[in-house]
Amino acid sequence: MSDQPITETHIAIIGGGIIGLTLALALRQRNVEVLVVEADHIASGASGAAAGMLTPIFEMHHWPAKGRDRLKNFGQQSLDLWQGLAEKLSAETGFETGFERCGALGLACGVDLYGDFLENIIAKKWAKAFTTNLGLGQKQTHRQGALVAGEGQISPVQTCQALAVLLKKMGGALIQGMPVERIDFSENNSSPSTLYFLNRKIRAQKIILANGAGASRLWQEEFACPVFPVKGQALMLGLTAEQAKKMPVKLLRGPDCYICVKSDRELLIGATEHRGVDEKNIEEDDNRLLLERAEKLLPFVSRLPRLRAWAGIRPGIADHAPILDQSQRFAALYYAIGHYRNGVLLAPLSAQIMAEKIISNKAVPAPFRLSRFT
Ligand SMILES: Cc1cc2nc3c(=O)[nH]c(=O)nc-3n(C[C@H](O)[C@H](O)[C@H](O)COP(=O)(O)OP(=O)(O)OC[C@H]3O[C@@H](n4cnc5c(N)ncnc54)[C@H](O)[C@@H]3O)c2cc1C
Repeated sequence: MSDQPITETHIAIIGGGIIGLTLALALRQRNVEVLVVEADHIASGASGAAAGMLTPIFEMHHWPAKGRDRLKNFGQQSLDLWQGLAEKLSAETGFETGFERCGALGLACGVDLYGDFLENIIAKKWAKAFTTNLGLGQKQTHRQGALVAGEGQISPVQTCQALAVLLKKMGGALIQGMPVERIDFSENNSSPSTLYFLNRKIRAQKIILANGAGASRLWQEEFACPVFPVKGQALMLGLTAEQAKKMPVKLLRGPDCYICVKSDRELLIGATEHRGVDEKNIEEDDNRLLLERAEKLLPFVSRLPRLRAWAGIRPGIADHAPILDQSQRFAALYYAIGHYRNGVLLAPLSAQIMAEKIISNKAVPAPFRLSRFT
């Protein structure tokens, strides 16, 4: 590729998070010319803050009852797609994505509603009853939980880096540090639309908005953007090899918090949810709350050294289902936004659905259509 600045592309994707990057790769794999434009650096948004859990069954607890089973099915399909994609990323780039189907264990922590949820997933044979003492201290008590063997996790930052490397290797383009400020759509759909930056412009035949919680700033429909910011704060603690060995599984899920053991001997506690908050400042009260909640899952966490705290802004949406669709106003515009708590999980399936929509105009599954808001 030449060093000349790009002025034209077939498809421009706005946003270099996990959604924009997996979609760019899916399009490139189908031989489409594609450019990702990222305001900051890849994974600088929610994708870089995510825990990386791939746990569709446990996420059901957070989804509205209507549509929950369908979302679960989409989540499970996407988890299966991760298996092949993660293997390909590692093989082609040498990056470790951290993908593992390590299993996830839910513990009720005395919350009846969550206990009912766990009993329900066991009754449906999505999980197995599991007894653990979490063998961690003097006062060991046996606890009943629900184990979902096939669920797992991935490392979102390394995965975004691997996606960017493979995209470029396959001839895709990526520009970082360039916020799109405005889009002008041609009235005539056959001529290109234009993306405007501070001192530059790029013409594209098709444009995809994958800019996460920033979606409302470039939204083009006649009704208000349904995506809203939801701040999430998380904590990383240090773990010794001996403590890691005592963990029954690497992922623990409770009613209001989760714990992930990351491969490099770190233990992640996540995450708060503040609807409407679009700032990434770290709140000490939130750290305390996370530790209190995590202690109910795993009593020894309060004794672990604190490594860091961070926050990210999720692209929230009321029904927890992303918008994966073409604009109702401009034929050249598409949306891949609103992945809320599950963008990492749903990325490969979203990329597949969007690529098929963009290239072959294949119908998008009803839960992801834009028309559900009109
Ligand atoms: C604490 C926390 C924990 C989470 N844990 C999980 C989890 O375990 N599993 C899971 O599946 N999901 C999880 N999530 C949710 C997940 O992170 C999001 O759903 C997902 O990252 C959304 O991806 P995205 O690419 O749409 O958005 P982002 O990652 O936010 O990417 C959007 C990108 O667009 C760029 N951008 C914005 N505006 C512009 C512009 N005008 N021009 C150019 N670029 C622009 C931004 O800089 C950003 O990089 C978690 C989120 C948080 C905050």
